[in-house]
Amino acid sequence: MQQRDIFQVFGIEPKNPGTFALDWLAGSGTWLVSENPATGEPLAAVEQASAGTYEQVARTAAQAFTSWRQVPAPRRGELVRALGDELRAHKEPLARLVALEMGKILSEARGEVQEMIDMCDFAVGQSRMLYGLSMHSERARHRLFEQWHPLGPVGVITSFNFPVAVWAWNATLAAVCGDTVIWKPSSHTPLTALAVQRLASTVMRRFEAPGVFNLVIGPGREVGQRLLEDPRVPLISFTGSTEQGRRVGEAVARRFGRSILELGGNNAVTVMPDANLDLALRAILFAAVGTAGQRCTTLRRLILHRDIHDALLERLVKAYASISIGDPLAPGVLMGPLVNEAAVHDMLAALEQARAEGAQVVCGGARLDRPGFFVEPAIVLAPKGLRIAEEETFAPILYVFRVDSLAEAIQLNNSVRQGLSSSIFTTNLLAAETFLSAEGSDCGIANVNTGTSGAEIGGAFGGEKETGGGREAGSDAWKQYMRRQTCTINWSEELPLAQGVTFPMP
Ligand code: NAD
Repeated sequence: MQQRDIFQVFGIEPKNPGTFALDWLAGSGTWLVSENPATGEPLAAVEQASAGTYEQVARTAAQAFTSWRQVPAPRRGELVRALGDELRAHKEPLARLVALEMGKILSEARGEVQEMIDMCDFAVGQSRMLYGLSMHSERARHRLFEQWHPLGPVGVITSFNFPVAVWAWNATLAAVCGDTVIWKPSSHTPLTALAVQRLASTVMRRFEAPGVFNLVIGPGREVGQRLLEDPRVPLISFTGSTEQGRRVGEAVARRFGRSILELGGNNAVTVMPDANLDLALRAILFAAVGTAGQRCTTLRRLILHRDIHDALLERLVKAYASISIGDPLAPGVLMGPLVNEAAVHDMLAALEQARAEGAQVVCGGARLDRPGFFVEPAIVLAPKGLRIAEEETFAPILYVFRVDSLAEAIQLNNSVRQGLSSSIFTTNLLAAETFLSAEGSDCGIANVNTGTSGAEIGGAFGGEKETGGGREAGSDAWKQYMRRQTCTINWSEELPLAQGVTFPMP
């Protein structure tokens, strides 16, 4: 499937509108050019939103909410089921567009679209399970229960590295919960957003439910900022760097809005002497090099027990040497480009700092001499206390540490400011349970004998500390998209007060 065929499927032209509320709107007259990171060449341009078009989007989403919240939740689920069907039917072209615009390899791009489909299925089921609890009242002939109501328009601001799946984590649940959605995608990936919006619009039209899914493309500091400060938007779900997330959290809290923050990670794998090393090697490779190190869950710190340190490192260096780097759409390629020039610069600068701090780059780390933003993945032998390893550099750099014990490994795992994903490779039950216990990993995700990346949607996804504390996708993440109401009904002829308080009529 050629680029022009993919563009044709989604109606992508050299110049496209970038704002959708009921229909495509004319924007500010300033154009955002989407580039192919594998060539550095422009793909197509998108017109950015103006203050006026943002206002139209926000008004539409707020107005649509007043009717969408009245649609029974299982019926709302049917719309999401239809969205899943559209995604199934367009899985291949959408995956190819993701690979083209973001640069991840086709297999991972297909996985990303599959994740959207999985989220649709999950949300359809959830639409019949928006359960509230009922409690036993301490007062006779009183009924005490809680129920969940739709919240309002939800602002979804997404990062470039999962240009479509993160929208689906939020939008599918928000929709079944009775909310409308305003999506501001990353400025690196406007075309995938456009394509998803086209599918969503088809479904909205079929269900006569306009205004449920809206799109606004524009710079974060303008359009994103408007969304953060908009009192009509009670919830902002933000996925991106810790630096931006801190601003988002502060701005939304200032107006007592709610936020879901899915921010940077600095994830570690620990390998113990009793581990299955074949398994560990494969997991490390995928977690460290997959998506060219541009996943929030990318493995960045490898903690090796001294007994297996040299042997595993040797095998890893060999494996790195045989990774094929190139066009993400070409068969057999395992690693595509970084997203842009700035990302290449950040990687090279981080390696320079590592060297300056006394670390040794044992393999990789060079920029490839070809168009686009290609680098070799790097392995760095890290001395204890290496400061650059405490930062998230969004590139394929793997810092390797040597430890003497499980306690030291856990201490190192927990020593950074981020708290997203972690895992241990061991066949020792005590080591595994210790890692998962309250004395173990302090991360939102803790795995045994599987890597840090590639989470399933069934669990709640997110991390602690500077990763922001948000949880999305499965488990009970849906509750964040609703407001909880606690209700007491007195069906007696008396007025007993709680806690035995008496307050007679004077
Ligand atoms: P980024 O912070 O540069 O941008 C994220 C989004 O924020 C973009 O849509 C951007 O336009 C917007 N933005 C920028 N300034 C804004 C402002 N003032 N107000 C509102 N929005 C604004 O992040 P990125 O480079 O796109 O993505 C990479 C980062 O995202 C990494 O740190 C990665 O770990 C993180 N991430 C986290 C998760 C998670 O679930 N924890 C998932 C994916 C990515």
